[in-house]
Amino acid sequence: MKYAGAHVSAAGGVENAPLNAHEIGAKAFAFFTRNQRQWVAPPLTQKSIDAFRNNCEKYDYKPHQILPHDSYLINLGNPGPEGLGRSRYAFNDEMKRCEQLGLDRLNFHPGSHLNMMTEEECLDLIAESVNMALSKSNGVTAVIENTAGQGTNLGYRFEHLRHIIDRVEDRSRVGVCIDTCHSFTAGYDISDAEGFKKVFDEFERIVGFKYLRGMHLNESKKAFGTRVDRHESLHKGELGDEIFSLIMNDPRFDGIPLILETPDESLWAEEIRYLYSLQK
Ligand SMILES: [Zn+2]
Ligand SMILES: [Zn+2]
Repeated sequence: MKYAGAHVSAAGGVENAPLNAHEIGAKAFAFFTRNQRQWVAPPLTQKSIDAFRNNCEKYDYKPHQILPHDSYLINLGNPGPEGLGRSRYAFNDEMKRCEQLGLDRLNFHPGSHLNMMTEEECLDLIAESVNMALSKSNGVTAVIENTAGQGTNLGYRFEHLRHIIDRVEDRSRVGVCIDTCHSFTAGYDISDAEGFKKVFDEFERIVGFKYLRGMHLNESKKAFGTRVDRHESLHKGELGDEIFSLIMNDPRFDGIPLILETPDESLWAEEIRYLYSLQK
């Protein structure tokens, strides 16, 4: 079973996310559990939590169809103690929110070394942050997203994901999310069947499909290997259509949220229909 959907708005309360997902015909969704551009967020109210759970039940969204995304401010590998402390505190809070909502995974970007430490030191720090968050929460898997490698962002090589996983104590609660746009601009050519096979064979060898907890299905505004993170709507980018057909027909991507983070939300319903139309 394929669960395709989009990163929908939770404006007005988290309970609106499943409604917004249902309206565009999504079988999966992503959302922010708090304002993603502010450090401080009021706690979720019991009313909001109950309404979220009710709406998920009403529209038939199970935890494995939902992939919340953490705040863009968080840097779990921040070399500065103050920034690191703030990030860890906020990430723990987000893990707790997922727990309160009955969700089982939280998607995050690994972090950035800001040219203040080596990649390896930064990856070690990220793993330590993940261990701390897991020890303070229950039932929620920390899902590391691969990145385009823009600036000093880590996570642009499968080896980075492996490095973190290897240092996580409870490996039953660590996973990964692969973003098609990020992979492509990071230098993984998944634009045709041959490249797709090669890249995902490598993924299986280095990380392993058993850790795959979600996918982000995005076109890329920027060319292959540019290491720039700019999503584009389907059919309008540099990646091409074939990758989406390959994913929609590959059972290795069954049973997990397949999330569009494409820029034009007025196209999401159509893009979701298109993804399902690719199934043979
Ligand atoms: Zn992301
Ligand atoms: Zn993404």
